[in-house]
Amino acid sequence: MKRKRTKTVKIGSVDIGSGHGIVIQSMTKVPTVEIERCVKQVYELVEAGCKLVRIAVPRRADTEAFAKIVQKVHIPLIADIHFSPDRAIEAIEAGAAKIRLNPGNIKNPKDIIRIIDSAKMHKTAMRIGVNEASIADYQTKDVPGDKRVALMLKEMKKYVRLFEKRGFDRLVLSAKSSDVARTIEINRKISETFDYPIHMGLTHAGLPEDAEVPSAVTLGTLLAEGIGDTIRVSAAGNPVEEVKIARKILVSLGLYERSEPELVVCPTCGRTEINVVQLAQKVKEAISSIHKPLRVAVMGCIVNGPGEATHADVALCAAKNKAYIYRKGKRVAIVPDSEAITALLNQLHKL
Ligand code: SF4
Repeated sequence: MKRKRTKTVKIGSVDIGSGHGIVIQSMTKVPTVEIERCVKQVYELVEAGCKLVRIAVPRRADTEAFAKIVQKVHIPLIADIHFSPDRAIEAIEAGAAKIRLNPGNIKNPKDIIRIIDSAKMHKTAMRIGVNEASIADYQTKDVPGDKRVALMLKEMKKYVRLFEKRGFDRLVLSAKSSDVARTIEINRKISETFDYPIHMGLTHAGLPEDAEVPSAVTLGTLLAEGIGDTIRVSAAGNPVEEVKIARKILVSLGLYERSEPELVVCPTCGRTEINVVQLAQKVKEAISSIHKPLRVAVMGCIVNGPGEATHADVALCAAKNKAYIYRKGKRVAIVPDSEAITALLNQLHKL
């Protein structure tokens, strides 16, 4: 998959741009002033595969807490700024590797220049994060959907020009909407217009189970076109779920190296003679402690099963009362169905 060329921007120790892998990021969702909880969540996100974590700093007490959190974690942190130029400068001085500014709510050029100068001095990167909902507050009321993309792009160009005029180019760009088609369109336009790295996400996507498909469609479409350098899946609830979805999207496009087994299960049909779902759930549980990027297949019959088995490291093709076990495409055992999982795991442990 050929990436659209974007320049490299350093976010602390993490490089973003087309010369580097797609970086997963997320946000903490506990009050920033609760420092220990915040640090714990940062580490949970890192453990899940997150390389950058953003933290909201709406009040002065939050930027003070942010300064302490920066000292306690080993990954670059991003401060999420809305409305207050002072919070932006405090966060930069507190050690933010990047700050996110929303052109929809910090608009005074004098304020922006103050922030730019501080970021330049501290080598802090900046994400210009245009959000359709923020623009709507003052500009897009009653503006039809198809005109909003043009407005978002106009807003982005205006902001970028200000930064460039001031000699600042450590920029990452993003434009988000809760609408799949508009998010795809605006990101295509940003990619055509600029060569700064692009942060992508679908905003306000819903609960994790509802956010997964729209996020995958949006980000998957753009990533498959080579667009995007860092992604954040937005979903209500535990942010670790956001990272899991982001990882699945990247894995499905071959853009993320798995470290865990992948389980392939046939969808079942009228030929199925055993309870494949139950069997697959048991296999899933049994392989959950294995930390290798293996492909494991559970198939419901020997019609299509052997074909899938050739693409899997180990496979189990169930038939009535017995199971055919495959390793690296070769049939290695036929066992009674009661021994199927043990036989599959035995083969798995030989790899
Ligand atoms: S593998 Fe067999 S049982 Fe499963 S869906 Fe295909 S044909 Fe049906």
